Amino acid sequence: MKTTIHDSPSSRLHAVPPGHPEHAGRYEAVREALLGLPGCDWVEAPAGGMPDVARFHTAEHVDRVLSACAAARPGDWVGLDPDTLVCDRSAAAALGAVGGAVAAVDRVVADAGGAAFVLARPPGHHAEPDRAMGFCLFNTIAIAALHALDVHDLATVAIVDIDVHHGNGTQCLAEQDDRVFFASLHQAPLYPGTGGEGETGLNGNVLNCPMPGGVTGAQWRARFETQVIPALQRVRPELVLVSAGFDAHADDPVGGWGLHSDDYAWAARQLAGIAREFSQSRLVSVLEGGYDCPALGRSAAAFVGALSEA
Ligand SMILES: [Zn+2]
Repeated sequence: MKTTIHDSPSSRLHAVPPGHPEHAGRYEAVREALLGLPGCDWVEAPAGGMPDVARFHTAEHVDRVLSACAAARPGDWVGLDPDTLVCDRSAAAALGAVGGAVAAVDRVVADAGGAAFVLARPPGHHAEPDRAMGFCLFNTIAIAALHALDVHDLATVAIVDIDVHHGNGTQCLAEQDDRVFFASLHQAPLYPGTGGEGETGLNGNVLNCPMPGGVTGAQWRARFETQVIPALQRVRPELVLVSAGFDAHADDPVGGWGLHSDDYAWAARQLAGIAREFSQSRLVSVLEGGYDCPALGRSAAAFVGALSEA
């Protein structure tokens, strides 16, 4: 598939305290690895706007994030929760991720297909309509889904979340909007503690595939193949969105699974197949977690490289 990388250099603006796992080095590691891929187009992500953010988040939430950033002195941080801290420029970084995702949706819809990868941080899938949590300020993928539905008038979008953590914030969207199908493969028990199989959304538009620690790539692929793929074939989405976290990798210090970069390449080929069959080859992926920088870079490159060759 023709593949475009939407690069958000404002990812560098979101500084975190020393030792925090979600740091700007993650962005640099993925960027470096993707620059080595042949055949991808690169575009710079524009900043997202408040109307984009307001499609998913409450005005109170936006005020809280902006006020916390305004209160942070240069070189210091303000905590929104114990894990989620902001500096004075963090909102600009989060808006860069939003702008990249919205532009990526515009591109694949206007260009009659293709894959787009949004290279940005902080991640977004834990952010709920009224709450920042788990390193996430604005829910980039949920905002991208609503942009596709409300601005481009698509009827159905699917969000597949391959991060090792459950995308609780994104599930909130599916629970209030049956135009969205949400599928997640995640470790349980693990943060944030949501994502049980019994959480099925509105008429089954949520598919949670929780699995215990120690899952291998073969076990992960089997669950993906037997549950996620048939569900996507039933849903027939007009756009495939992917919360592309790579913290299920064996080397990741946060997740407890045993995936390798070839598992992510396999998943990319599966999702490209769905996009080609049902979605006019429209596929937008957004970077979420992944905390071992070498493994993160290799995994993202395997995933994006497989998309570009699919
Ligand atoms: Zn994660």
